[in-house]
Amino acid sequence: MQRTIQCPLPADSDLLETIRVYNKAVQRVIDIGWTKQTYNKNRLHEFSYRDLRETYPKLQSSLIQCARDMASDMLKREKFKHKKPLKKPFSGVRYNQRTFTPFLDSGQISISTLTGRKRYSLIVSKYFQRYFEGRITSLTLYFNKRRKKIIAHLTMEIPDVPVEEPSSFLGVDRGIKRIAVCSNNSFYSTNHILAVKWRYQQLRKKLQSKGSRSSKRKLKQVSGRERRFMTDENRKIAKWVCNMPYNCIVLENIRGLKAHSKQKKKVNKKVRRQFGNWSYYQLERFIIERAEKVGKTVLYVNPRYTSQRCSRCEYISKSNRSSQSHFFCRECWFELNADLNAARNLSDFGKAEIGRASVNSPNVAVLSLTETIVSLSHGVVLATSH
Ligand SMILES: [Zn+2]
Repeated sequence: MQRTIQCPLPADSDLLETIRVYNKAVQRVIDIGWTKQTYNKNRLHEFSYRDLRETYPKLQSSLIQCARDMASDMLKREKFKHKKPLKKPFSGVRYNQRTFTPFLDSGQISISTLTGRKRYSLIVSKYFQRYFEGRITSLTLYFNKRRKKIIAHLTMEIPDVPVEEPSSFLGVDRGIKRIAVCSNNSFYSTNHILAVKWRYQQLRKKLQSKGSRSSKRKLKQVSGRERRFMTDENRKIAKWVCNMPYNCIVLENIRGLKAHSKQKKKVNKKVRRQFGNWSYYQLERFIIERAEKVGKTVLYVNPRYTSQRCSRCEYISKSNRSSQSHFFCRECWFELNADLNAARNLSDFGKAEIGRASVNSPNVAVLSLTETIVSLSHGVVLATSH
């Protein structure tokens, strides 16, 4: 899997000048590509190489190639439809493997600049040091004007953690009063989230009613802050879920359902009431990322009947629910918090699905996480419960 780490570099004038000239070169290639209507790398090279060598004699040819590749990517993204891409003087510049060499043992990195190769010391935070056995595949430099620092983004390929064969199942339901409820009786405490959300809501209302220019600017700031709070909270929840002693996490698959299907509406409605525009997709993504890191499997099951089925006797009936938050089985008189009952059902469905898969073909039981992600992005249900 890939991970990107960030390390600050000193704002060295050579490096800064390199970033500036590199960006100018990118813009020049974009200009040429735009007039010639091409983003093909070979053609861009033909049209621009000599011109760039003459205009920026200090920029060595390997950096010219990097600049050309970057320009090609930017043109490709735009596809000559709207506006010509613009490269700002200090925006990020990408280095390929021929233009930098990391020396992780000594905590240094050598980077091509206008005055040749130069070595810089890398300041790597403790948190990122654990990724350092990985192979570094690319480097992007950003200049942060506010902090007056150059930030190096190092992308590295780190070995996959072996995925354990699913044997213990944790169902995670998005509850009515809680964002996440687990089948092992754990409820993620959400009182503080509701309190913070309510505060933001009040603030937004106040600013919206003003409608002045400064209040609009303030509104933007506030929504940014709210978004960051949600992201932070989602990371915490994902960590909380993945730290539990289960090696298979079972979620309800809502993506696989048709957008206007009754089931999807039902699931969405129940959470929207409490948490407004909470990003469950982001939470899912974080759970997947985290699980990948620790070698756990994420399984998706069809959410059908999760709220109607009794997790003790398996009796399914619409009337099994006495109220929104309370589950009562008409068959065996089992009573439980409705969200917890749903989470337990998810865990059961996941277990049954893996059991079925291993009977048909033993190898399927070990579902690799990348497969999960692939099937997820295509909206395919990896494992259906019925
Ligand atoms: Zn029952």
